Amino acid sequence: MEQIVILGSGPAGMTAAIYAARANLSPVVITGMTPGGQLTQTSDVENFPGFENPIDGNELVETMRRQAERLGVRIVMDEVTDCDLSAPVKKLTLMMEGEMQTKALIIATGASARYLGLESEQALLGKGVSGCATCDGAFYRDMDVAVIGGGDTAMEDALYLSRIASHVTVIHRRDEFRASKIMGDRVLKNSKIDVMWNSVIDEFLDVAKGEVTGLRVKNVKSGAITELPVKGVFVAIGHTPNTSIFKEYLELDKEGYIKTENTRTVIPGVFAAGDVQDRNYKQAVTAAGSGCMAALEAERWLMDVE
Ligand code: NAP
Repeated sequence: MEQIVILGSGPAGMTAAIYAARANLSPVVITGMTPGGQLTQTSDVENFPGFENPIDGNELVETMRRQAERLGVRIVMDEVTDCDLSAPVKKLTLMMEGEMQTKALIIATGASARYLGLESEQALLGKGVSGCATCDGAFYRDMDVAVIGGGDTAMEDALYLSRIASHVTVIHRRDEFRASKIMGDRVLKNSKIDVMWNSVIDEFLDVAKGEVTGLRVKNVKSGAITELPVKGVFVAIGHTPNTSIFKEYLELDKEGYIKTENTRTVIPGVFAAGDVQDRNYKQAVTAAGSGCMAALEAERWLMDVE
């Protein structure tokens, strides 16, 4: 039986692990399918304090992992597929390692990219449709591409792609961005990026050809339909928290985020940190902060029950 298991290896999970290790709790981290989490899909991180110059997202999480391992954290490359949180001993089912039991559990499973849900989008996923510009952008050198969304991710993707593609069109359903002003302004000032406002995707083209050749775009104000020839489409419309296996036991809000109070969930000994419980901030640094809180809460709880 483990003292404390941490699910997720992004900044929330790794920070929780670092704190738990320094409290002599012998933490185990289950990495999940995307070791390092969403930061591994980001190029330049320039808002994580401590780095004067931008640091690559992969490098940042890799450094966290090495820091955690130096402190004695056991890192298991595996995925939790099921859990039983009904008894004081929490049971986890791992895809490869089988069952694991723990006294305390910190859930830091993060969130996954969301898609529009059109059939043509799903049919062309990986054939020109992508949810990650930093992963797939390099395939579109000197080609025309589109980015869907009006948040910071869409802005970041558009700016990143403008350095690779010949032209980028941002397609946004409203007439103003949700993104921070600085990011929105950078996009609007970039001569390689155009914005189609008040526009939604009617169809991804061309399923019959098995590759993206363009988009059928509808203006929601005028109803006008236009065709935009592009080779790549990057969907950047937000994320869904990875909470489906916990919903039977924990209280979730209407979008599926785990409800917490200072990282404590409704089950004693189960804590949540990072994007899985944060619908507002979703920053690497806030995730790390909540990971620290979860570890301190877990340490106190373990002391109380022992
Ligand atoms: P977000 O802020 O939730 O923005 C999602 C965007 O997608 C919105 O513009 C939204 O439109 C649009 N959208 C959602 N569903 C849609 C649909 N079905 N069809 C068409 N458009 C749709 O998500 P995000 O951009 O991924 O950012 C998440 C959080 O991470 C934010 O807090 C953001 O500030 C942060 N972030 C920060 C950085 C950075 O600081 N470097 C980088 C990336 C992300 P509406 O605007 O109309 O709702």
